[in-house]
Amino acid sequence: MCSGRVDLEFVLRAFSNGMDGVIIGGCRLNECNYITHGNYHALTMVLLCKKIMEHIGLNPERLRIEFMSSAEGNRFAEVMSDFGDKVNQMGPLGKAEGIDQNEIKSKLAEITKLVPYIKVAKNEKLASHLENPEEYDKFFTKDEIDRLFSEVLSYYIDPKKCQACTTCAKRCPVEAIAGGKNLIHVIDQAKCIKCGACLEACPTKFSAVTKISGAPVPPPLPEEKRTIVRKKKE
Ligand code: SF4
Ligand code: SF4
Repeated sequence: MCSGRVDLEFVLRAFSNGMDGVIIGGCRLNECNYITHGNYHALTMVLLCKKIMEHIGLNPERLRIEFMSSAEGNRFAEVMSDFGDKVNQMGPLGKAEGIDQNEIKSKLAEITKLVPYIKVAKNEKLASHLENPEEYDKFFTKDEIDRLFSEVLSYYIDPKKCQACTTCAKRCPVEAIAGGKNLIHVIDQAKCIKCGACLEACPTKFSAVTKISGAPVPPPLPEEKRTIVRKKKE
C-alpha cells in the first residue's frame, strides 16, 4: 500500500533469496495523501541499505528507489526497463562483486539479525525528510556504517544485580532471555537481536541490564548457580 511499509529487512530478504536487483516504487515526494509521508521513510531506508550493501561488498546500484504517480505508465515502463537492463549488465548477485554465494548469504543473515539494532541506532536519520537529491549520497557515510557495525552493542545481565523479576524476559521479542521464578536471568547472545528492550524494562532499582560496546560479553552464569535463595520474612 505504501512504500514506507518496505522494511529494510524485506530488501535484505529479497537479496538473500537470490534476487539480483530490488526496485521500490513510491508516490512522488510531497504528494502523499497522509501526514506520514512514508515515501520519505522509504528513501532514507534505501540510502541506508545502499551503504550497508557497500559495507558487505555488494554493488549498491542493485537497489533503486523511484517516485512516480500511478498515471505515469510510460515513465514506469522506462524506469523498469532501464533497471532491468542495468541489473542484467551487473549479472548475478555476488558474481560481479567476486563474492561467493554462501558468503553473501551469511553476511546478509548477520545484517538481517541486526535490523532492530540498526533501526534504533539510526532512528533519527531514518525519520528525516530529505528535500534535496544532492544530499542523498552523503546522507549516510561509509565511515558511519563501518562504525555502526564495529561498535555493535551487546546486552548483558549482571548476575549480582538480577532479582529475577522476569520483566525483561516478558519484554524480549525473540525469547532470548532464559530465566524463571527465583532464577537469575541470562541473555542468549546468539538469539539476541540487540533491540535494547530488556535495558528499558529492567526496573531502575535493580538496573541489572547493561550495554557493552567493543568488548566481549562475560560468559553466562552456569545453570546450577542461577538460583536466588531469598531470606524468609520473619
Ligand atoms: S536486547 Fe534484550 S530484549 Fe532485545 S533481543 Fe536482546 S535480550 Fe531480548
Ligand atoms: S528485569 Fe532486571 S531484575 Fe528483572 S529479571 Fe530482568 S535483569 Fe533481572
